[in-house]
Amino acid sequence: MDPDCLFCRIVSKDIPATVVYESDSTLAFRDIDPKAPTHVLVIPKTHLPSLNEANDAAVVGRLLLAAKDIAKAEGIDQSGFRTVFNTGADGGQTVHHVHLHLLGGRPMKWPPG
Ligand code: AMP
Ligand code: ZN
Repeated sequence: MDPDCLFCRIVSKDIPATVVYESDSTLAFRDIDPKAPTHVLVIPKTHLPSLNEANDAAVVGRLLLAAKDIAKAEGIDQSGFRTVFNTGADGGQTVHHVHLHLLGGRPMKWPPG
């Protein structure tokens, strides 16, 4: 837990969020500034700044499997969805606690901006 980290403070319920999924290791909540009808952030409960620092396959894998389950619960598993890790400055990362974006409910463009 990093007391200066926004997402750690969401994990500790210091800062409110609309939680859509929670397990012992993983939390998912709605993005405060959604870029699609469904926009959920899936995070490990333990602090990890970005994918650059990740080395535990189970931690990263659980984020993706949770995203798949949330996509189904949101009713977008068949229409399709996008999962994205933004990493570092060029990746567009603004919050330095690793998070998987789950976006869906509209067609996505490719390539991303
Ligand atoms: P990134 O730019 O990939 O680091 O994504 C950070 C995301 O966190 C952005 O999509 C923000 O809209 C979102 N965000 C920032 N503050 C909050 C918050 N308090 N609750 C939920 N989502 C947030
Ligand atoms: Zn954190």
